[in-house]
Amino acid sequence: MKYLVVGGAGYIGSHMVKHLLSDGHEVVVADTVATAPDIEWVELDIADARALDRLFADYHFDAVFHFASHIQVGESVSDPGKYYQNNVAATLTLLEAMVRADIKHLVFSSTAAVYGDPQYVPIDEQHPKAPINPYGRSKWMVEQILEDFDRAYGLKSVRLRYFNAAGADPEGLLGECHEPETHLIPLILQAASGRRAAVTVFGHDYDTPDGTCIRDYVHVADLASAHALAVEYLLQGGASASFNLGNGLGFSVQEVIDAARAVTGRPIQVIETSRREGDPATLVADAQRAKKVLGWQPRFAGLEEIVGHAWNWERKYPWR
Ligand code: UDP
Repeated sequence: MKYLVVGGAGYIGSHMVKHLLSDGHEVVVADTVATAPDIEWVELDIADARALDRLFADYHFDAVFHFASHIQVGESVSDPGKYYQNNVAATLTLLEAMVRADIKHLVFSSTAAVYGDPQYVPIDEQHPKAPINPYGRSKWMVEQILEDFDRAYGLKSVRLRYFNAAGADPEGLLGECHEPETHLIPLILQAASGRRAAVTVFGHDYDTPDGTCIRDYVHVADLASAHALAVEYLLQGGASASFNLGNGLGFSVQEVIDAARAVTGRPIQVIETSRREGDPATLVADAQRAKKVLGWQPRFAGLEEIVGHAWNWERKYPWR
């Protein structure tokens, strides 16, 4: 198959590209940032309808994977325009270009943030959608737009609601590198490697056994395999649907730090501070639907493997 990966230079997108290429597919990456030199890359902003039309005139894609979005909750609160512009308006431009080019299949990166404060855990796909920040609202808006595009134009989509994407390529070729970094596991590992003096723990007074937040960490390679199954499902005529992607296992911030101490064998300095705004105490996925409908089976549910792969990456690139 021939696939377009929008945002294929990013953390999850780059793992997806590797997965698709190793399955023997043809891949073109559209991104504002360059990828590895051996990957076919089109420098493109999806807000640019003409550039999209040119791209779709040059290539016939069987499906599009859309990873390109802003992802920082805090920034979405202070600068919502940026989030609605990129995550919603630019995505709409992409979808309209797909309709013009008669591309009928899309796998879309959504998020557990569409649910807002959980009313129950584990969270299944029927859980009410009540996002509590512009980031989550932007993703939920696109999910609803996609339902309308299916009804009106027959554009079939799978929306994958990630819980906490984590880890790195098990072969060590790819990993996580955000600027600025805000995610827990890379920050802990930077404290372990000495790139950072300490990691800050946001809140010790949550209603959880050790008082720190519980999250469902899902390995980035398992996210990639879920996307590959999702596109096969669509190409075989599957109906548009949303799926949670998580392991169904919750680990506290303290447990992640303990796992990182065990994996790295290094002391990791911790600074305790107050809660970060908008963090629910516990987020854990019910991912039965993805397992049943897509046949998804995560390979890396253990925290040690997830943290271990991320640690390989952190150690491999001390220059970053
Ligand atoms: N967290 C923390 N210190 C940090 C970054 C994150 O204690 O420096 C906590 C955060 O409060 C949350 C968990 O780690 O409970 C995961 O946060 P992350 O930002 O990695 O992902 P999110 O849950 O926001 O998608």
